[in-house]
Amino acid sequence: MQLQENVSLQPFNTFGLATKARFFVEVEDEVTFLKSLDAAKPPILLLGGGSNMLLKNDWPGLVIKNAIRGIEVVEETDDTVLIKIGGGENWHQLVLWSLEQNFGGLENLSLIPGTVGAAPIQNIGAYGVELKDVFEKLEAVNLEDRSIQTFDKETCRFGYRDSIFKQELKGKVFISRVWLRLSKQNHSLHMDYGAIRDVLAADQIENPTIQDISRAVIQIRSSKLPDPAKLGNSGSFFKNPEISKAAFEVFIESFPDAPFYKMGEDLFKIPAGWLIEKAGWKGKKIGNTGSHKDQALVLVNYGGATGEEIWQLALAIQDSVEKQFGITISPEVNVIG
Ligand SMILES: Cc1cc2nc3c(=O)[nH]c(=O)nc-3n(C[C@H](O)[C@H](O)[C@H](O)COP(=O)(O)OP(=O)(O)OC[C@H]3O[C@@H](n4cnc5c(N)ncnc54)[C@H](O)[C@@H]3O)c2cc1C
Repeated sequence: MQLQENVSLQPFNTFGLATKARFFVEVEDEVTFLKSLDAAKPPILLLGGGSNMLLKNDWPGLVIKNAIRGIEVVEETDDTVLIKIGGGENWHQLVLWSLEQNFGGLENLSLIPGTVGAAPIQNIGAYGVELKDVFEKLEAVNLEDRSIQTFDKETCRFGYRDSIFKQELKGKVFISRVWLRLSKQNHSLHMDYGAIRDVLAADQIENPTIQDISRAVIQIRSSKLPDPAKLGNSGSFFKNPEISKAAFEVFIESFPDAPFYKMGEDLFKIPAGWLIEKAGWKGKKIGNTGSHKDQALVLVNYGGATGEEIWQLALAIQDSVEKQFGITISPEVNVIG
């Protein structure tokens, strides 16, 4: 364990914000993690790939970066495998590994940035699949009593871009290892979301494999989302708001062309990107920041933006959407500091 001081966090967050950590350490296992807690002053910030955080200020305490590695098959039946993954593994590398083994379940989640340890925090999801669909359990170190706790699917309380780790356990536990159950045969394919079927049809693929679906997802994502290595961003900045039937009826009467998804008898989801675009923000640049020209939901750092600048833009967008539609959009990104 090597404790460093005054470390730039710019390479460690996909917004590319030039904030600093007073203390910084990378941990390779639970024992080093526990040791690091005593090595420097709080407050503590847990860091994965920095792809879902907006760092508003320098961090005055200790930043602990998850570098716990390892992918292993721990159980196998004719139909499924259970794999155990170190929380510091890169998510997309895990997806590629699973496809090489022909293990199914992660293909729709291809190319999502970040670490495996952070994936349960907002129950990552894309193209009709969420982490919870393959999740078995995880281990986490409790920062207060320093015990190692196990959470199964139920105790994680997964929801839409949500879990107990984004609510009452936020910042209180460090997810060190994750177990996922994947299929070995008769993979269940999810192709009804986004343009997956169109891409497969264009490539004349009639009986797609999980590898074909991953390639289609990668193609769609690469054409739609800005690459953080080229243009700082954190993916979707806001969650899609969910509203009651009564609120939906008022909304749709005023905006009959609005897209929506019926999530339940009394629950309707409205794409936040549509609301932001209709409110006039798409492609708008303010100083060094703005809403992306192709994806209104993605806020970007054109270079040299501060976290505070991006946050002020987010608040202005939130405010104008609220005024125009009477709907509150809330950040998906973790706003830090
Ligand atoms: C271009 C782009 C596209 C994206 N697309 C998607 C998408 O399709 N679907 C989706 O769901 N998300 C998407 N995201 C968001 C992001 O990739 C995920 O939320 C990812 O899981 C974040 O992982 P991370 O390791 O980078 O987390 P970080 O940003 O490092 O951390 C996120 C939060 O979790 C905490 N944290 C990190 N690691 C741990 C740990 N081990 N234990 C406890 N707390 C921890 C941090 O303190 C912080 O609050 C996208 C982001 C980008 C930049």
